[in-house]
Amino acid sequence: MPARLTAALCALTAAVALAIAAAPASADTDGGDFVIEYGHFNKANRKAASILRRSGAMEAVAAEINARWALPADVPIYISDEIPVGPAFIPDLTLDDGTVVPDFIAVPGKFLTLELKEMRRQLKGVRGITPAEAMIAANEFVVAHEMGHALVHSLTLPVTGKEEDAVDGFAAYLLADNPKFGPFTAFSAAMFFDAIARLRGRLTAADFADEHSILEQRVYQFLCWIYGSDQRRFKSLVTTKLLPRARAVRCGDEWKQVTTSWGTLLAPHALAPAPPAAPPAPAPAPAPTR
Ligand SMILES: [Zn+2]
Repeated sequence: MPARLTAALCALTAAVALAIAAAPASADTDGGDFVIEYGHFNKANRKAASILRRSGAMEAVAAEINARWALPADVPIYISDEIPVGPAFIPDLTLDDGTVVPDFIAVPGKFLTLELKEMRRQLKGVRGITPAEAMIAANEFVVAHEMGHALVHSLTLPVTGKEEDAVDGFAAYLLADNPKFGPFTAFSAAMFFDAIARLRGRLTAADFADEHSILEQRVYQFLCWIYGSDQRRFKSLVTTKLLPRARAVRCGDEWKQVTTSWGTLLAPHALAPAPPAAPPAPAPAPAPTR
């Protein structure tokens, strides 16, 4: 967790405790699940929060992970203005009174509003995709990234290199080549980070020192994974020079590496696939007649 979030959280312990008390428990039988919990939103963030909530997208991402891998305990995902930090995975938070709050993920309403606003700007004059659709897809990627942190922490997965890059890879692995979600998730995240990079302006020491890769690098990484996942389908990323050819030649191998690495790391935690439905019982043999 970034240090600035740790500082912000110290002032929020009461809100955290309240939100945790309201969290629903998981329904199935393995050790735990990601559990989505929407809270209250300030007036300014209600529209974006309502778009996301009505889409059911967060529940779909959680259900995808819950159905595939076993977690040792529930990890609530609080989407609300009551914990106005993040998006962030918060491991084992110690409150002022010494109570340890188990792992959770926080997504504040102001982040959803920012996503919607920047998607409106990015998609001005673009037909066929609405800012709301792009906001939902980008948020699927962002929340899958936070779930990746939670998996690394709760399953003690090895990580070499920067964890932030690794869990970007998890979000791409989970969503981009998955027919239930698709590459639009990673592309929307790239659009959003591109917008945020423009807002940021000149890079400073803080950007270089940050635990995340520079926003522009993340944008190109996401485009590289998308292209690498299906080079024929996404060749326009290269022909339009959105993705430089010098990087594009590596992207097929990079995609294979990220997907086989996450597949290998998570294989020991995979839930057994549901058994196929039993075939219908054969009709009883007719009673012999004499
Ligand atoms: Zn992160």
